[in-house]
Amino acid sequence: MKKFQKIKKWAVIGLSCMTMLFGAVACGEKKEAAEGGSDSGSGEKAQIVFGTNAEFPPFEYVGGQGVIDQYDGIDMAIAKQIGDDLGKEATINNMEFDSLLLALENGQVDAVIAGMTVTDERKESVDFSVPYYTATQVMIVKEDSTIAKAADMADKKIVVIQGYTGETVVQDLGYKYESFKKGSEAIMELSNGKCDVVVIDSATAEKYVKDNAGLKIVEDTDAFGSEEYAIAVKKGNTELLNQINTSIQKMLDDGTISDLSAKYLDEQ
Ligand code: GLN
Repeated sequence: MKKFQKIKKWAVIGLSCMTMLFGAVACGEKKEAAEGGSDSGSGEKAQIVFGTNAEFPPFEYVGGQGVIDQYDGIDMAIAKQIGDDLGKEATINNMEFDSLLLALENGQVDAVIAGMTVTDERKESVDFSVPYYTATQVMIVKEDSTIAKAADMADKKIVVIQGYTGETVVQDLGYKYESFKKGSEAIMELSNGKCDVVVIDSATAEKYVKDNAGLKIVEDTDAFGSEEYAIAVKKGNTELLNQINTSIQKMLDDGTISDLSAKYLDEQ
C-alpha cells in the first residue's frame, strides 16, 4: 500500500555533497561477494561490499575511470569515502536494481547505495541510513510535447523503470505504463518516438536531457512528492548503520556531498 504524497515544492535541492576520494583501486576480481565483505584474510585490507545498479547517472554509472574500479558517480564517491572512514576497501557488486534488497538480506553485499529512495515498503525489509539527497520524480518528454502536468499523461504512452519509485508513482496515479530495465533504454524509446513520456528521478532526468538532444523535463510538484535517498543495510545491522551514518553526516556537514553533486551534475 503505497502512499501518494502531495508535493508542495519540488525540491531538487538535494545538491548534497560528497567527498572526493578518488583512488581507483586497481584490484581485479573480488573474492566471492558472498563473503559479505568482511576481512578477506591474510593481511589484505578488509572490504565493505556495496551493492548498486550502475545505470543511474549521475549517482552510479560505468565510466572510463571510475572512483571504484570502472564505477563512477556521486554514490560511488560516497561509498569510497565510507570505506576510507571505516578503514576498509570499498568494492562494488553491480546488479539489477530489483535484486539489491535481496542481496542485502542474503548477505551478498554489506550495504546498498543506489540512489535508493526511502519508502515504508522498503523499510520493512531493510534499515536505512540518514538521507543524503533529496529528489523528486519528473517527466521527460520530447521538446514539442504538450504534456505540462502529470494528469496530461493519462492517455499517453508512459514508460518507467522497473522497480523504481517512478513506477510506484505512476501506478498510484492509476495510469497504464510500460516498464524497462534501464533508464537508458527508456530514453531511447522516447527519443525514437515509441513512447510519449518517461517518469524518472530528477537528477537522473537532468543528466539524460543534457546528454540527449530534443528532450525536456516537465515538473509537477502537486503530483510528485519529494523523495530522500539513503543507504540500506541489513535489518538489525546497527553497527554498520551507525558507522555509515557518522560518515554520511560528516560528508553532509563539510560540504562534500554538495560538492560531489555539483561536480557530477555539471560534468560530461
Ligand atoms: N530513486 C529511485 C528508487 O529508489 C530510483 C533509484 C535507482 O534507479 N537507482 O526507486
